[in-house]
Amino acid sequence: MATARNEDWSYTGKTGPNYWSSINKKYALCSTGKQQSPVNIDQAIKKSLPLGINYHNDLFKIEKSQYTVKFIPVNHSNSINLNGSHYTLLQFHFHTPSEHTINGKQSDLEIHFINENNKKSIITIGVLVDSGRLNKEFQKILNANPVDEDFERKVVKINLQSFIPYTSKKFSYTGSFTTPPCTEGIKWIVFNKPIQFSEEQIHSYQNYFEPNSRPVQPLNDRDLFESW
Ligand SMILES: [Zn+2]
Repeated sequence: MATARNEDWSYTGKTGPNYWSSINKKYALCSTGKQQSPVNIDQAIKKSLPLGINYHNDLFKIEKSQYTVKFIPVNHSNSINLNGSHYTLLQFHFHTPSEHTINGKQSDLEIHFINENNKKSIITIGVLVDSGRLNKEFQKILNANPVDEDFERKVVKINLQSFIPYTSKKFSYTGSFTTPPCTEGIKWIVFNKPIQFSEEQIHSYQNYFEPNSRPVQPLNDRDLFESW
């Protein structure tokens, strides 16, 4: 990975998730926080979630970090609506294996779509990925070749609709970023039904990127909600 930036935290050993808060005072919430993510999702309370997802075909710039790759919209045309508030997509990225688990089951990958409104409040949409059918849009990302020196100068055109399981039930809860500084107050919406990438696609991705999933965190006294 040619241009990866070095973080002071990691996913294994003495700078792994259990030690994040001791690396830097700014990361204190990673251990003192009571609303941390990811979580295991099992029992949930039914509640309506007036969510509209306006994702479509768009151009994305590629920005590589040490443990993942971010896709940043060139335009600001991908957005979501929740309770009448408009949130613009800031970036999406991948984790492998998944960070959220459903009834204790981990998926092969998880996609995070970070959306922000004009009050700087953030909704992250989580989509789990299991092995199955080939996904043509994900193939465009693999074809951009993350080990290529020019990877970060490339712009890819991706239709995000093929990453959203529109007919799936959704879970929601209040949590945090899953990487330091583990900032809280993040609204999470996680789709119950995984989408599919082919086994070969998942293996290709895992060849490019090391595991980057934080273990599930205690729910404490938070409620999990489910909706269609
Ligand atoms: Zn993430």
